[in-house]
Amino acid sequence: MQKIVLLVTLLVIQHAFSQKQEFDIVFKNVNIVSMENDKPLLNQNIAIKNGKIIAIENAKKSKLKAIKTIDLKGKYIMPSLADAHIHLPEKEEDLKRFFELNILHGVTKLRSMRGDWKHLAWKEKYNSKDSQFPKLYLSAPPISRSLEATPEELESFVKKSKESGFKFLKILSIKNQDVFVQLDNLSKKYDIPLAGHFPYLSAGVSIDEELFLKSNFNSLEHLGGLIGDPKFFESRLQAIKKNNIFICPTLTWYSIGSGQYSYDELQKLAGMEYVSIATMQTWLEKTKQYRDKMGEQALKEEVAKELNDLEEKYKVINRLQKEGIKMLLSPDASSKYMMVGSNIISEIELLKKANLSNFEILEMATTNFAQFFNENYGVLKTGNDADFIVLDENPIDNLQTLKNVKGLYFNSFYLSSENLMELKASLLSSSNK
Ligand SMILES: [Zn+2]
Repeated sequence: MQKIVLLVTLLVIQHAFSQKQEFDIVFKNVNIVSMENDKPLLNQNIAIKNGKIIAIENAKKSKLKAIKTIDLKGKYIMPSLADAHIHLPEKEEDLKRFFELNILHGVTKLRSMRGDWKHLAWKEKYNSKDSQFPKLYLSAPPISRSLEATPEELESFVKKSKESGFKFLKILSIKNQDVFVQLDNLSKKYDIPLAGHFPYLSAGVSIDEELFLKSNFNSLEHLGGLIGDPKFFESRLQAIKKNNIFICPTLTWYSIGSGQYSYDELQKLAGMEYVSIATMQTWLEKTKQYRDKMGEQALKEEVAKELNDLEEKYKVINRLQKEGIKMLLSPDASSKYMMVGSNIISEIELLKKANLSNFEILEMATTNFAQFFNENYGVLKTGNDADFIVLDENPIDNLQTLKNVKGLYFNSFYLSSENLMELKASLLSSSNK
């Protein structure tokens, strides 16, 4: 009897031991930028099972074994990136390319800022359990000034938005203060936050400051309410801080929209290599029409004003960072000359002008986003999702290394450098049609 007990015990121990060693994959000899702090862990082995990080060990002492081992000697890994302000393509047939452009640039999380009921079906289809597409966080169909709805209709809209799985109510503009109060109450009642534009009633006229302070906003786009309204700047800043509202600066949109670039420069902006010649021609034609109609002098004045506003935005961003207000990386690639994925780099470069540190900028695309949605990625540590990109250099030393993502692990699949090069080649060749 004793012998049997001993044998069973031994088998259990042996089983537990073999279980412990059987990871799905181990990445060896890699430097880890965990994003817990700005010091990389050099030369580590990282073991993954069922999409989770199970162990991180010093490579020299590590005995982690797995079904598959990949040597990343000399490379760096950091959490994959999130874009907090995207607009999904109008047609489903354009989705795959849209997703692939993000994957190519290491972006595995996308927050959609202009919802549509059809996006719910897209999410179900493209975010299946083992999906190789970025994870979507969806906005309800936007609410604007032109909305005609009775209080009952508004309530059923908010209720349905929450029940359908939308993450927030997107406000574009507000008809009047009564509608805002109704909406804000419903947002609290159904526990679905408000996000979007600062609630101006018309140009320069906002709702009562007290209503904003008590509102259910959890994010604001475009530095709304903080630019060109000096009288309310400090009080709004404090309201944002107190309510833990996250800010999406969307600098790329303003930088490209400012009109500062020549036709030649526009064609060379980041990501334009993925745009077809025909599309580029249409864009240039539209720009030319706009500029010709405006006239040289007026255009010059407009550009000067836009660039001035951008300078103000950099100062505001710097202040927000100093106040400990959380920001999210958010290029807002929603108009011509803009490209999802590539614009992550443009946005990062513009944020440097606000004098943020590289680490602070990377937080915006990783930990801040994870915190915003209360998810366990964004930091590479045991227990968290194994969701990271492979880079040649430490991005905290050199953000430019993000231009060439050399690998991606996410949702239990791995894209090697070769896989990404193939993806890039196919995206480039299909854009030349
Ligand atoms: Zn937008």
